[in-house]
Amino acid sequence: MIDVLSVASEAYPLIKTGGLADVAGALPGALSPHGVLMRTLIPGYPAVMREAEGARVVHEFDDLFDGRARLLAGRAAGLDLIILDAPHLYDRPGNPYLDPTGRDWPDNWKRFAALSWVAGKLALGLIEGYQPQIVHAHDWTAGLALAYVKYGPSDQVKTVLTVHNLVFQGHFSSDIFGRLDLPPHAYWEGVEYYGGVGYLKAGLAAADAITTVSPTYAREIRSPAFGAGLEGLINARAGALHGITNGIDIQAWNPATDPALRQNYASNTVHKRHINKQSIAERFGIVGDGMMFSVVSRITDQKGIDLIAANVDWLVSLGATLVILGSGDAMLESALLAAAARHPGRVGMVRGYDEALSHLIQGGADAILVPSRFEPCGLTQLYGLRYGCVPVVARTGGLADTVIDANEAAVDAGVATGVQFSPITSEALGEAIQRAVTLYGHEKVWRRMQRRGMKSDVSWDASARRYADLYASLLGLERDDYSGD
Ligand code: ADP
Repeated sequence: MIDVLSVASEAYPLIKTGGLADVAGALPGALSPHGVLMRTLIPGYPAVMREAEGARVVHEFDDLFDGRARLLAGRAAGLDLIILDAPHLYDRPGNPYLDPTGRDWPDNWKRFAALSWVAGKLALGLIEGYQPQIVHAHDWTAGLALAYVKYGPSDQVKTVLTVHNLVFQGHFSSDIFGRLDLPPHAYWEGVEYYGGVGYLKAGLAAADAITTVSPTYAREIRSPAFGAGLEGLINARAGALHGITNGIDIQAWNPATDPALRQNYASNTVHKRHINKQSIAERFGIVGDGMMFSVVSRITDQKGIDLIAANVDWLVSLGATLVILGSGDAMLESALLAAAARHPGRVGMVRGYDEALSHLIQGGADAILVPSRFEPCGLTQLYGLRYGCVPVVARTGGLADTVIDANEAAVDAGVATGVQFSPITSEALGEAIQRAVTLYGHEKVWRRMQRRGMKSDVSWDASARRYADLYASLLGLERDDYSGD
């Protein structure tokens, strides 16, 4: 077995704000058949501590970034966890990064330096009987862990950084550097970022391997348009960069057994989805039986929500309806709420985060709109494929890699699974909506697309194998050395 320490600031089902949590929560289970034992280091937020019953204390710190802290080890929610219980850093309301008013916690630099510093110590064998061979850090919140490993006294442990979204970088003022417990030369060797300290940058510079969550995004981030200021470094590290597409948890997301659906179904009973569609209509105040588009998303500029707002009147004029679940940017939310008010019975919005409702939407809406300006992988289109909720997506990042556009050749060959559009403009989205409405009008073609999508392999299996192979190659192992298969 290969022993991997995953360092993640969120992991489903314990705590989730986005796709990172889904990946961090699913990878350990997906990797175990491939000869990888993954433990997850996670901050002890209230939601995590509630699940920590039975975990044992394996280490205590008298002073971890200005407060007492403990490490707890145990199993919860199907994960092998090492929980960093540091109440002065994590015992607070709000989400992992923001206070209840939606602002970044002012001490985020310290909260995620502490997580990363502890990962560095675990790599050095801090807990008796536990020596990871690989430290696998996720996003900026764990990026510094790889610098701590790099500048630690041992270079036995190999490191991987997965970038789920390059835009979130953990950029802080340079005065914190002296408090990070890194050697002075680390600053100019990779931690410095535009005159300050960059946690993601530090991880990109230090990692033995860098992965991002789709091959197209791995290519895109080498250009200024997608590189968010880091393209120079990413190009310099191109030899270490890999694109591995995310999978989804096909047990948790299974329309045949999903308890959040009013009616379960499979690809040969896809017509039964209309019962779920009825439930959604009741919940969102939708009247009539037109084609139902849906959105389940953070309401942000990245997700192209303004393009949706610009197309609502058009969509309704085509006889379709729209349901939206999400929250985020206040201006964009108001634009959507105004659209809902303009079209009572045709457009409905539920503000907030609702896991069960997101399942019901995938299980009943006809199509899911994902017009992201950039999308490292995207998960909602994968859920859409699995549930027969046809994805209508921007041609970028993981959306480009996972959906097969219903162009004429693909429809004729019976391989289409959705609709893609580019450039990413409101006009192009408008045309895509029209194409989807037309395809929906051809029942046979539509059903075939739904079934084809439901048969796409969106599981973790192939991707988990790629991660396992990457770990093995970093350690100089052959598959037979660590895996039973
Ligand atoms: P990102 O991580 O950029 O937000 P992804 O598509 O990778 O985007 O992952 C988003 C995840 O969050 C998906 O699992 C999606 O179903 C879920 N999600 C987003 N908004 C909501 C919401 N309002 N309610 C429930 N689930 C949501």
